Amino acid sequence: MGKYIWFDKELFYPILLIMFKAVFPGSFDPPTLGHLNIIERASAIFDEVAVVVAENRQKKYIFNAEERLFMMNEIVNSRGNVRCFVWDSLIVDFMRQENIRLLIRGVRGMDDFSHEFELSMMNKALYPDIETIFMATEPRYIVLRSSSIKELASFQGDVSKMVPSVVAKALKRKFSMKDQFDI
Ligand code: ADP
Repeated sequence: MGKYIWFDKELFYPILLIMFKAVFPGSFDPPTLGHLNIIERASAIFDEVAVVVAENRQKKYIFNAEERLFMMNEIVNSRGNVRCFVWDSLIVDFMRQENIRLLIRGVRGMDDFSHEFELSMMNKALYPDIETIFMATEPRYIVLRSSSIKELASFQGDVSKMVPSVVAKALKRKFSMKDQFDI
């Protein structure tokens, strides 16, 4: 959340404008229509949404950070109040740096929720000023999960109704390439 104050020349009194900025972090390996739905809904509510592509050296991804950032930028392209970043450290550090206090997480069900709830407790302990907002998925996206989509794509299954077309193409390219990937 950022606060801006300016003086209205005609009315001659200060106007306080509160900008609600939110961050939506994830692996996005790859981005799915479920992620996109959360981004669209968040961008309709908040003034600015920062989509943060996580780069965690302990984790194995099939798409590197640049590829995931590229796909995300393509997908959110037309939404003026959404910006995408890569971040290789704690999300709370990104939030501190960018002065953002709202963290959005998507939930598909109780399994997601219990995991996300614990994460939110940890983040709150690290940075007490932040609030986590849980957004329930839309029912049609409830089964969309990056890991299952990768598995389906690895068997040349049709993922065109699960991911944006730029991602479907990238998955096709990735799995038609020489060596196999660990999913
Ligand atoms: P995944 O959980 O699929 O491996 P990420 O770590 O990239 O994906 O997820 C980033 C955020 O998006 C998390 O909060 C996750 O719960 C949420 N998310 C993932 N898929 C969906 C979906 N289909 N609907 C709503 N939220 C989702």
